[in-house]
Amino acid sequence: AELDTLDIIVLAAILLGTVAYFTKGTLWGVTKDPYSSSLGGANGAKAGKTRNLVEAMEESGKNCIIFYGSQTGTAEDYASRLAKEGKSRYGLETMVADLEEYDYDNLDTVPSDKVVMFVLATYGEGEPTDNAVDFYEFITGEDVNFSEGREVPLDNLNYVAFGLGNNTYEHYNSMVRNVNKALEKLGAHRIGEAGEGDDGAGTMEEDFLAWKDPMWVALQRKLGLEEREAVYEPIFGIVEREGLTKDSPEVYVGEPNKMHLEGTPKGPFNAHNPYIAPIATSYELFNVKDRNCLHMEIDISASNLTYQTGDHIAVWPTNPGEEVDRFLDILDLTDKRHNVISVKALEPTAKVPFPTPTTYDAIVRYHMEICAPVSRQFLATLAAFAPDEASKAEMTKLGGDKDYFHSKVNVHHLNIARVLKTVGNGKKWGKIPFSAMIEGVTKLQPRYYSISSSSLEQPKTIAITAVVEKQDLPGREDPFRGVATNYLLALKEKQNGEPEPTPFGLTYEITGPRNRYDGIHVPVHVRHSNFKLPSDPSKPVIMIGPGTGVAPFRGFIRERKKMVENGETVGKTILFFGCRKPTEDFMYEKEWEEAKKVMGDSFELVLAFSRQGTKKVYVQHRLKERSKEINELLEKKAYFYVCGDAANMAREVNTVLAQIISEERGIPEAKAEEIVKNMRASNQYQEDVW
Ligand code: FAD
Repeated sequence: AELDTLDIIVLAAILLGTVAYFTKGTLWGVTKDPYSSSLGGANGAKAGKTRNLVEAMEESGKNCIIFYGSQTGTAEDYASRLAKEGKSRYGLETMVADLEEYDYDNLDTVPSDKVVMFVLATYGEGEPTDNAVDFYEFITGEDVNFSEGREVPLDNLNYVAFGLGNNTYEHYNSMVRNVNKALEKLGAHRIGEAGEGDDGAGTMEEDFLAWKDPMWVALQRKLGLEEREAVYEPIFGIVEREGLTKDSPEVYVGEPNKMHLEGTPKGPFNAHNPYIAPIATSYELFNVKDRNCLHMEIDISASNLTYQTGDHIAVWPTNPGEEVDRFLDILDLTDKRHNVISVKALEPTAKVPFPTPTTYDAIVRYHMEICAPVSRQFLATLAAFAPDEASKAEMTKLGGDKDYFHSKVNVHHLNIARVLKTVGNGKKWGKIPFSAMIEGVTKLQPRYYSISSSSLEQPKTIAITAVVEKQDLPGREDPFRGVATNYLLALKEKQNGEPEPTPFGLTYEITGPRNRYDGIHVPVHVRHSNFKLPSDPSKPVIMIGPGTGVAPFRGFIRERKKMVENGETVGKTILFFGCRKPTEDFMYEKEWEEAKKVMGDSFELVLAFSRQGTKKVYVQHRLKERSKEINELLEKKAYFYVCGDAANMAREVNTVLAQIISEERGIPEAKAEEIVKNMRASNQYQEDVW
């Protein structure tokens, strides 16, 4: 079933030598038959694919497998980059693998002339990413069993490890740390250091680059590899499909999968299959020019989606037309934007990250993170395809000089097309193989939002509270704009027929592929979370939610309000909310008043305004002022919740809470910190931060 008729036709055409495969002359100098072993489904996944990693390596002649545990795509991207570099610089036969797709009980049979790499993100409260859960449980398990039952089970195994974490979280990089510990304990040999990237400090990319070079040197020594001059070799082959147009029924123009293409999307809806949900209502929460915060109600009644108060909803964004145009233009693809192409993996272990046949326009608009920060290493790779010598030199410099790159690219929040345009002085970069872009630009990721409604009150409608990401940056003519939130803003403007929609917003193709999102729809799925009210409603709750951090607490409060309306008794419910000024960004003010009317003394709102008067007051200050009461509530087993900014607020709140406990109970701070730690471990202290 995987091998559809079109594939066969394409294959036949190639065998007959009638398809012009070398779209760009010598740049596409690949001699092997691109279709020899990759006639899989849309994304190269083969039916009945082995879960045995040794077998998978042997079948495809690989000596280096790179596993990723990824939630937002960064770890996956780093894994691909390691694969690419290992191949081009050291001639390693590399493959990238999703941790979820293999079993691990035969790690003890990986031959010692091979290497296994782990690129592991830590998610939330020190948890593995969704795709790494099984591996993590296996490898850190009490009595892990391997196929051969040797005393030192993994003495054969050479491994490399890099972690992606965020130092503002309690369990910084715990995935890579714990996996590394477990592997060492099992007798495996690590090559190089176990690297750690820190998103909290904003140094992830640089940490990765600084880690990988010494790792390659160590690996080179260990396996006796020879370094060679890296030459770009495409991973994907691109074939123009002349018989097809963007209106042909089999051509994907942004549909995420086959069911959507055929116009019959069905559940289960998940990270591979979004539900195209109608937006019931949408409105602005702020009362100030130039800053926007959206409230949206998303109707899931016609789907089999469910949610619980405290869960997350994922929004699948579309790129803004302005950036799609810029990207296509700089690659000299504007005239070909609607040409139909098939993209095939030139090597069996690579996956095409979107369904094909499709168009350049659809790939760029719906599947590539074209607005994201640019990787320095990627610029170095692209230097080879520069339109002139000066641009080539500049790209090489940007790729090699961290500080220069920072000052020219990072501070202006340039995306890849903007960098190319600036470096090349507007000249087109038509020599860049499109494969390099598919490899170098990450897959467009859904954005998560803490659901701000209560499933008790409205089980079939999900609310989102999202602040629109827009920053004026020095040295830039136009502001930097976030992808998903400006897409949502555009939807809201259209839904409300606003007379002055933002011009940028107008460029979004909000009616979606084949106009299937028309009538104000947005593709979504739900991700269940552990951020939950206590099951016993009489327990007190303390919620710290400044700014959009209030989102899940709106859900919590509405839930408890509904319980009171249903005749239940609820425990003390305190919300600490902070914003700039009561007249500007004090959202949901009326709703809190209504909650108060129903809940009486069991609900209390504590406010902190940071730009009113001379002193900046934040939620953590207000929390401190209430020390006595907070401590008393904690002694009554109150649940403590923090949501919002991970970088500063959440950490400060944690510190303040320990101070409160220390002072009120007359115990040393270290002891109080220990108590807070235990509260976290027992879920009495929960965080939903980003
Ligand atoms: P993006 O385009 O993704 O940009 C986001 C940031 O990335 C920018 O501000 C910038 O710092 C950086 N960036 C992007 N491109 C570049 C570049 N080229 N150069 C340099 N830097 C760049 N948000 C809410 O408003 N409400 C919520 O309830 C909420 N809940 C969340 C819950 C979870 C579990 C998580 C993980 C996140 C949550 N968020 C929430 C954040 C939300 O998911 C998005 O990150 C946010 O809305 C921004 O998305 P965006 O696509 O508009 O911005």
